[in-house]
Amino acid sequence: MNIVFMGPPGAGKGTQAEFIVKEFGIPHISTGDAFRLAMKEGTALGKKAKEFVDQGLLVPDEITNGIVKERLALPDCDKGFLLDGFPRTIAQADALETMLSELGKSLTHVINLKVDRSFLLARLTGRRICKSCGATYHVMFNPPKTEGVCDKCSGELYQRSDDTEEKVGTRLDEYMNKTAPLLQYYADKALLREVNGEQEIEEVKSEIAALLRG
Ligand SMILES: [Zn+2]
Repeated sequence: MNIVFMGPPGAGKGTQAEFIVKEFGIPHISTGDAFRLAMKEGTALGKKAKEFVDQGLLVPDEITNGIVKERLALPDCDKGFLLDGFPRTIAQADALETMLSELGKSLTHVINLKVDRSFLLARLTGRRICKSCGATYHVMFNPPKTEGVCDKCSGELYQRSDDTEEKVGTRLDEYMNKTAPLLQYYADKALLREVNGEQEIEEVKSEIAALLRG
C-alpha cells in the first residue's frame, strides 16, 4: 500500500492521514519529517540539506529527492507508506517513480481529498481567536455563545490577518494552480482516486478505508 496523499489546505488532510497510518500500520512520511531525520542522523544528504536550510535557501530538488528516497528505503516502509507533501511538481513525481522502481516498489494509490474552493474559503476564514486568552472558535463549526465574545473570559474575538478572504483565496489559488497538473499526471496513470472531503470526518474515513481495502 504505497500511497501519495493530496489535498488542499483546510481539507482535513492531517486528520485523515493520522487515521490511515493507524488503520493500516504504515508510516506517515512528510518531507519535513524526512529532512529532520536526515539532519539529525547526519547523513551526507542531511548535511547538504542543512547547509541550504541554515542559509535560508530552498533545498534543491536533487537533495530533497535523495532524502525522500533514503526514507522510503527504511525497513518500516516494507509494508507501505503514506507520502504527504511530496511530490509537489511533475519533476518530483517523475523522480518519485524512478526512485520507487530502483527500490523495487511502485505507487498503488494517489488519494486526493476533493473539497470545493467556496467550502474551503468558508472553513478557513471562519476562525476567530480571543485577544485575551487565545481560545479559538469557528463561526460555523464552533461558534461562541455570543458573537464576537469569548465564552471563557469574555474577551474580544478577532480574525488573524492570514485568515482573511483575500489571503486565504490567494493561498488556495496557488495551491490549486500548482497541483492541477499533478492531479492530471496521476489521472493519466490511472492512479488518482478522489474522495469527497466535504463529508463528515467519519464518512471520509470510511470512504478512504474502503478504497484502500478494495
Ligand atoms: Zn478568552
